[in-house]
Amino acid sequence: MVKHGHGMVLINRGQFGRGTRRTSHGQAGMGWLARLAAAVALAAGGAVAAAAQSASIEAAGRRLLAAYPDHLADVENGMLVWRDGTRMPIDDGRGQKRFEDWLAAPDLEDMLAQPYPAGAAATAPALNADPGRARNAAFFDRMYGDCRKGEVAGRLTEVVWLPRKSGQRLKVTRINGVDRKLAAVSAELDLLPARFDAYLVPSAGTYNCRAIAGTDRASAHGHGIAIDIATRHASYWRWAGSGAGGRITYANAIPIEIVRIFEKHGFIWGGRWYHFDTMHFEYRPELLPKSP
Ligand SMILES: [Zn+2]
Repeated sequence: MVKHGHGMVLINRGQFGRGTRRTSHGQAGMGWLARLAAAVALAAGGAVAAAAQSASIEAAGRRLLAAYPDHLADVENGMLVWRDGTRMPIDDGRGQKRFEDWLAAPDLEDMLAQPYPAGAAATAPALNADPGRARNAAFFDRMYGDCRKGEVAGRLTEVVWLPRKSGQRLKVTRINGVDRKLAAVSAELDLLPARFDAYLVPSAGTYNCRAIAGTDRASAHGHGIAIDIATRHASYWRWAGSGAGGRITYANAIPIEIVRIFEKHGFIWGGRWYHFDTMHFEYRPELLPKSP
């Protein structure tokens, strides 16, 4: 569960903590029988919470498994098992995270903690609602390579962007068929009426081995899984003003028809983030209903 407020996202790891506080509050003056009953209830509550937590870890692992079948083999005792035998813990055991920590160092479960509203209208996201913005670096480096070590360039291939309208050549990864998926997006966008052209052409770029502006976190562009459409009508949270309480003012001019075509093929949209980046799309099928 994710709670928004005061600049924090708290990932709720079950009810155990809350139950502990409530029980210890009324303990003074309790008879031994009442204390025993309270202890049994607490232990039972803890067991229920632990079961709920392991179910959510399991569910996160299953979602990843379904999204990346070429690389992932199984979920076993809270570990994600890769086809090459690598095992990664799905939960880092660090409990609730502040928004900044969730963004900077998410575990695999954290990446799925905020639901992505696929297909919805473009409306201002809730405070710190950034589904898909938290990326576990080890997971994506293992899947696509680390561009700073020269592991990505050899896995890139060219996709022709909007063959009819543009013909621009863009480099994306072949891993997970991202090139074929972007080509499918491109073919559909190419059929849209001419009034959509200014949003799409020219693309502002795909592969780029860099950190996210203003951070030392690796960009999805460095994995070869992201594309920026045209900058002409783009809106970006760092350029935006803020309103009451310092809240970032949401802005978007990208037509939802474009967004829905990307989402259909496994790409999420940066326009669904509180920290919005409306020209940005990246391949993240784990956050979307299964692509065709
Ligand atoms: Zn981008």
